[in-house]
Amino acid sequence: MRGVTATDTHCPYCALQCGMTLTPEIPRVRLEPRDFVVNKGGLCAKGFSAADLLDHSDRLLTPLVRKGQGLREASWDEAFDRIVDAIESAQKAYGRDSVGAFGGGGLTNEKAYALGKFVRVSLKSSSIDYNGRFCMSSAATAANRSLGVDRGLPFPLEDVASARTVLIVGANPAEAMPPSMQYLEGTRFIVADPRRTKTAAGAYLHLQPLPGTDLALANGLLHIAIREGYVDEDYVARRTTGFEAVRSATNAYWPERVERMTGVPETQLRQTVRLLATEGPAMILTARGAEQHSNGTDTAQAFLNLALALGLVGRPFSGYGTITGQGNGQGGREHGQKADQLPGYRKLDDPAARAHVAAVWGIDPDELPGPGRSAYEMLTDDRLKVLMVLASNIAVSAPNSNRVLQQLRKLDFLVVSDIFLSETAALADVVLPAAQWAEEEGTMTNLEGRVIRRRRALPPPPDVRTDLEVLAELSRRLGRAESSDPRTVFEELRRASAGGIADYAGITYERIEQEDGVFWPCPAEDHPGTPRLFADTFPTPSGKARLIPVVHQDPAEMPDRSFPYVLTTGRNMQHYQSGNQTRRVRALTVALPEPRAEIHPDLARRHGIADGDLVELRSRRGAAVLRARLSDGIRPDTVFAPFHWPGANALTNPALDPHSRMPAFKACAVAISLHTEGTE
Ligand code: SF4
Repeated sequence: MRGVTATDTHCPYCALQCGMTLTPEIPRVRLEPRDFVVNKGGLCAKGFSAADLLDHSDRLLTPLVRKGQGLREASWDEAFDRIVDAIESAQKAYGRDSVGAFGGGGLTNEKAYALGKFVRVSLKSSSIDYNGRFCMSSAATAANRSLGVDRGLPFPLEDVASARTVLIVGANPAEAMPPSMQYLEGTRFIVADPRRTKTAAGAYLHLQPLPGTDLALANGLLHIAIREGYVDEDYVARRTTGFEAVRSATNAYWPERVERMTGVPETQLRQTVRLLATEGPAMILTARGAEQHSNGTDTAQAFLNLALALGLVGRPFSGYGTITGQGNGQGGREHGQKADQLPGYRKLDDPAARAHVAAVWGIDPDELPGPGRSAYEMLTDDRLKVLMVLASNIAVSAPNSNRVLQQLRKLDFLVVSDIFLSETAALADVVLPAAQWAEEEGTMTNLEGRVIRRRRALPPPPDVRTDLEVLAELSRRLGRAESSDPRTVFEELRRASAGGIADYAGITYERIEQEDGVFWPCPAEDHPGTPRLFADTFPTPSGKARLIPVVHQDPAEMPDRSFPYVLTTGRNMQHYQSGNQTRRVRALTVALPEPRAEIHPDLARRHGIADGDLVELRSRRGAAVLRARLSDGIRPDTVFAPFHWPGANALTNPALDPHSRMPAFKACAVAISLHTEGTE
């Protein structure tokens, strides 16, 4: 037993950040759901089994260093020596930017902040990006340019429960974050998804568009809203700019054409518009299914245009939001581990932002590097020689993963800090054993923009360190003193974010304790925080939201004779992200031991595939073998594969959205064939 007191904290997995209580007991830590305001006592199977991670036999308990083809145990001193040698050699030979870092979307705010500062100040490198690039970047880019701020949900989840109609596009909360479904119970919700997911199965209406056509769907809905007189002309005039250009752009999206493009019947299009416009309060929520495309930013924009034209945004229990997936996907993109950002959601190319943050960091603004390359671009650039990866398994989660694996193997030096030997860590020259969620202090920012406390319930094992300790020690060895104390780091983050868009200046650990979380922006300690944005104004120069015309473009890769079907990827209820954690939890692997490719029976019949057969999926980039699960809930032209195991991302297309640099995870062309057992 490593402690005796019950500690209130939050789940280590998704952005709902459900509250739970941990009590270290013999022989194991007891985990109980907590009546936190967001989950109200609910947990999913992942959350209930999260304590299994703490004393798991696969846990990394000491640093490892490469020895030939393998890894051997080493002291922290040797590990740090090797890392610093590699950094200094690479930067001397190839320049500052040859050394970079990649952060996870589950890092605490303190760690995300410290990692951004470490790269820009101690390494003086521009080479940094994070896993949120692969997750939220399109919705974030659209929200920033349209609304002036990117906060996933600009209202608390409790507002969803007071809405009457909710359109959910490309999200499956019934599997990804089941406790959130309590907020939809009293609403009439409509789901747009190529699959009849658990969420879609419970919906009032299920729209089943072809992957990659959501923008056409949104423009088609707006076309109908305009033609049928549902636009809130007064709201549009008072609170928005750009409507006339959008009106013109949507002329070409008449219902019959949109039905042909998307596969959604005209009657369903009309019914959806009528419900959104007349059965309010109404909300539109998008997620990765709509956003992870080579036109993901414009697709999110199309739904924003619709929400603004209907006058939903900023009204009580109404609006537009995007559902964040990763545990700290929101906070992780606010405080400086993104290639183009400084803390407080400041822009790295803004002179005033550079001056403010440089003053907090005690450096000259000219010492700050400029914006770096986005995640996939950085990871596949030969100029990157040394890479540090914190809490991310890019060998599985990056698009076109064979290409990324090839590049990881080419690096001069790879450092991975993680709790288990992930597929990425197995390639590393140095592996650092990291403290886990229940062994560290810090803050997280959930999908609502609510800043919450992660609390330490027990100490980490003796030879395990927190990432803050690792970054502070590396900084010291590189000639700069940094704190490894989470509270001290958070105090500095508060100063660095002060006056920025994501302003945390008024948020303290004590306030979070007392108030069960504080919503940003919160510029002063006597400020109440901001649960709801946009009630009176938008943080744009004009104070108005911008409607921006967007047009449908085919996915970067269309089906053809060689690759005739569309692959889309997503989540299963039992697993999380790359599966590095959940694939080791017995209760979860018993429930779902392997990935299943979801295939329509008609498509299966065409290829002689029966339920449970192994099938090979092939794209222009790679192949994967999965067991088939036949379902008439998926379109016959579409195949679904979960991304929690190696394989799915060997197929995905790294074509990037021009605005957000988001890869096209959610639509690529594949072929399918029966795979014979034993030939894997
Ligand atoms: S819904 Fe998300 S935060 Fe809640 S228990 Fe499940 S994985 Fe954890």
